[in-house]
Amino acid sequence: SGALVWLREDLRLADNPALAAAIKAGGPVTALYVHDEETAAMRPLGGASRWWLARSLKSLAKDCEAIGLPFAVRCGKTEEVIREAVDEAGVGSAFWNRRYFEAGVKIDERLKSALRDDGFEAESFNGRLLNEPWEVKSKAGEPLKVYTPYWRAAQARGGPRPPLPKPTKAKIEAGKALKGVKIDDLGLEPSKPDWAGGLRGSWTPGEAGARKELQRFLDDSLKGYASDRDRPDRVGTSRLSPHLCFGEVSPFQLWHSVEQARSEGPASPKDVDTFRAELGWREFNHHILFYNPKLATENFQKRYDEFPWGEPDAAHRKAWTKGLTGYPIVDAGMRQLWTTGWMHNRVRMITASFLIKHLMIHWRDGEEWFWDTLVDADHANNPANWQWVAGSGADAAPYFRVFNPTTQGEKFDPKGDYVRAFVPELSEMPAKWIHTPWEAPDDVLAKAGVTLGQTYPKPIVDHAKARGRALAAFDKLKSRS
Ligand code: FAD
Repeated sequence: SGALVWLREDLRLADNPALAAAIKAGGPVTALYVHDEETAAMRPLGGASRWWLARSLKSLAKDCEAIGLPFAVRCGKTEEVIREAVDEAGVGSAFWNRRYFEAGVKIDERLKSALRDDGFEAESFNGRLLNEPWEVKSKAGEPLKVYTPYWRAAQARGGPRPPLPKPTKAKIEAGKALKGVKIDDLGLEPSKPDWAGGLRGSWTPGEAGARKELQRFLDDSLKGYASDRDRPDRVGTSRLSPHLCFGEVSPFQLWHSVEQARSEGPASPKDVDTFRAELGWREFNHHILFYNPKLATENFQKRYDEFPWGEPDAAHRKAWTKGLTGYPIVDAGMRQLWTTGWMHNRVRMITASFLIKHLMIHWRDGEEWFWDTLVDADHANNPANWQWVAGSGADAAPYFRVFNPTTQGEKFDPKGDYVRAFVPELSEMPAKWIHTPWEAPDDVLAKAGVTLGQTYPKPIVDHAKARGRALAAFDKLKSRS
């Protein structure tokens, strides 16, 4: 008697198992997105994610129209909105793809049983992960806490299913069009001030934008990915993270398209395996989140609860957010984040390490800043990576590994092109001094138009002293545990 497809973190038509099932059921189909700012347990979206969501929903609305699928956006408490929508649409079933963060899981469980109690069919599907958290286990049947055995066990399950095709107009019987709100009326995009210019210039949210970015990656960056992925001065990665985050592309599509590209093109098996291993980290982080739902607020390793953080320095924190620490690679990263809503993975590690270890500011503070400013802010990947850098996470980097921002810069941005792109005050600095302007001779600084402390800050902390302080704090933790 017809189905409601409830779209959430899966804003796409191709390879969408819930949508495919609704069409296969044979009756009329109606699609709905619920913008829920009322359920208290839901983590409010950050600013950059809100911007992306608005654009992605607009793109989805157009795509739905093109295949004759009625689509509406409604606001309110998810559970109430879905119950009303099912009645109004006059459907007998509701389908959706699963999510894995605690508030979402609980809402979905409650809804599923309430709908079933009332005689509706309610079914959920997997559209987001190659392997759902409970599908990968240790030999003893337990959740895994270390990446390598996790990824080995995941791969032992065999290759993922092929992606489902995009439904065509001819296959869809249009259900009742629900009345919705205008996407512009949701107030998701900033106006005064409009800080989203850099985001607009960098991204095309939506399924078509994701497809285009994937094609660019396959054509230009897959070959050499294994080595270039660490170079922020090159476009060496897929830049698909926000598209994956909003579900505009699925990991199944990525898994199979890199295989096809390799068999037809010059990429090596190593490039393909390395890319897939990164998808593996995404999967591992979802596994960790599912079994540790408080990952964004609580240390995964409880002994870190005793870590002697000390009083956070507000001026230091501000300098970090604004990209004014005096360490060029850190500042370039933080400004790339602010202007484009994205930061290269290598630089995310450097900037996160700087906040936690050089400034001794709690990883939660950094996680929150990234949550607000990243277009790919993710329930699993953001806290898991912050805890990885802090040392408190699952399979984390050891705490005593303190990234040296100077040598990291020199190694991964050897000519300084990445710094020059985001820190215009240093654009005339020669490569030799671009990561250490405080060591540059006066005539070099003068020629580059740099006056330290005026046009560009002096380092806000001394690396060697900061490193010593971080290691001393870690020693205290060790002696307590
Ligand atoms: P590619 O190199 O092309 O990788 C392909 C995909 O694999 C990515 O899109 C992503 O989904 C996944 N992936 C790659 N690296 C990682 C990783 N280290 N952990 C988990 N998945 C990975 N990623 C997010 O998607 N959302 C976040 O909120 C997020 N926060 C982070 C915070 C910190 C402090 C750090 C160090 C990393 C964070 N990452 C996060 C992981 C990583 O930096 C991004 O996924 C990556 O930079 C995205 O760029 P890409 O799509 O070009 O990656």
